[in-house]
Amino acid sequence: MRITRLVCGHCGSILSGLGQDKLFFCSNCGKGWSLGEKGLEPMLVQCRASADSNLPLPFWMVKATVHVLKRTVRNKFTATMLRFGSRYEDDVLSSKKSETGGQSDRRIFLFPAFHVDGLPGVGVNLSEHIHDLPDEIGVGETLPDICGGSVSSLDASVLAKSVAVGQEAEKADWLAEIEIVLSSVKSVLIILPCILEVEKVAIAETGVSFFRRSVPDWDEIVDYHSNRT
Ligand SMILES: [Zn+2]
Repeated sequence: MRITRLVCGHCGSILSGLGQDKLFFCSNCGKGWSLGEKGLEPMLVQCRASADSNLPLPFWMVKATVHVLKRTVRNKFTATMLRFGSRYEDDVLSSKKSETGGQSDRRIFLFPAFHVDGLPGVGVNLSEHIHDLPDEIGVGETLPDICGGSVSSLDASVLAKSVAVGQEAEKADWLAEIEIVLSSVKSVLIILPCILEVEKVAIAETGVSFFRRSVPDWDEIVDYHSNRT
């Protein structure tokens, strides 16, 4: 059995979190740590929530080059036929599509670093509001205590790909098939102030929210914060 001492490798402070957490933020010195096979490894982190924020939560910001290898779009005419339930042969269907691909672009994705049902959808909406994030907390300011970072950096690059697929599906055409590859992936953990609403949780000032019931660890996250304030 491997025992990992959850202590900040920079300043020696105790790192706390929930049992399933893989990402830790030292609220003393502001360093980030990711729990890997070899123990705690340093990780880039940007804190954009102040110490008096009621609900600071961790998010992944992933920069990557997105290569769309193949993008197949169904003809709208075919899709209309589908909706009316007409019967036709498969080869008729296959002739009613067009294929593009071979484009690459650099994108920035933002999505929760905790488990949320429908995470790629939250990521598609959140990634459109990267410029609406609060500023980074300055050096010397008091930092918040966070928990809930259960999505590892390896999982984050897989999820960034599903957000990219979600963005392609949101385009106003009839996407049938897509082949996407991500390269030059760089991830930073971002701590954002969140606001508890009746049934939802609003993410900073982005206008994007998610349902609390869609987060499996929600009660534990709330308990953690209420026991610390
Ligand atoms: Zn530290």
